[in-house]
Amino acid sequence: MLKLTFLGTGAACPTLDRNVTSIALTREGETMLFDCGEGTQRQMMRYGVSFTFRDIFFTHFHSDHLLGVTGLLRTLGLLNIFGEEVRREPLTLYGPRGAQRILTQAMELGIERVKFPVEIVELKPGDRVRRDEYDITTFPTEHRADTIGYALTEHTRLGRFNPEKALELGIPEGPLWGRIHKGEPVELPDGRVVTPAELVGPPRAGRTVVISGDTRPVDSLREAARGADLLIHEATFSQVDVARAIETGHSTALEAAEIAAAAGVRRLVLTHISARYSREAPELLAEARGAFQETVIARDGMEIEVRYEGESGA
Ligand SMILES: [Zn+2]
Ligand SMILES: [Zn+2]
Repeated sequence: MLKLTFLGTGAACPTLDRNVTSIALTREGETMLFDCGEGTQRQMMRYGVSFTFRDIFFTHFHSDHLLGVTGLLRTLGLLNIFGEEVRREPLTLYGPRGAQRILTQAMELGIERVKFPVEIVELKPGDRVRRDEYDITTFPTEHRADTIGYALTEHTRLGRFNPEKALELGIPEGPLWGRIHKGEPVELPDGRVVTPAELVGPPRAGRTVVISGDTRPVDSLREAARGADLLIHEATFSQVDVARAIETGHSTALEAAEIAAAAGVRRLVLTHISARYSREAPELLAEARGAFQETVIARDGMEIEVRYEGESGA
């Protein structure tokens, strides 16, 4: 399962409807956060996001994306999670240039110290964080600050194994199935050799989620989002305020939708909505859907599940 939970969807300052930015991504039981605006820990409680996470990825260090980290770390230091008396599991904070200095300051606020190791990793555009089943890559964005966007790309999966055909060929369910599935030809007791091509379909693409952070609509973002299953793009303003968007290094709903259309993504979620718009922001939605139909406006607590292309309910 791959799911996004929008913890904060407003720009600049919290409102009654929208907290400031944070997005939780949960994949196969693992949780990570992207940005951590003020009040994120309470939003996690409210919307049922696990505190057993090991990573926070920051797009940049404007305070509406950052100020929640101090309180969240203090709370993690008090909780009994990971089955221990107090947390011992390390936490890693990733961010663009300045991460080391700014996040160290944020962690040192207050006189308490957290008792678990916290590692800070500065990332450049184009860097890759490698994991067993997916990679997180960064790409340059443009926002009058040191900023990066993130793309989570799952590795290609094995092709589909055909159990009926395996039984037909006289291969009993067991370790042989696993070996064939992983690409190994196997010899049966009667001397026949079965090759994976007989039982395993073509490799299947993993899922990709792209998170823009605060940015103008830029080519590097469009390229990073090419063919993505889900693009989460900021849309601080409507096209009426495009001059203001340019001036402040943000995007309009139309600009975000044009990026989604040009990149050929499957779905677009608009977030980081200015406080000047209502909860439903109908003008932003209409504007975006004119350029890209598969658009929704994020609201706090919204969950989006990302399915494999061509697989319903998977
Ligand atoms: Zn912001
Ligand atoms: Zn910003």
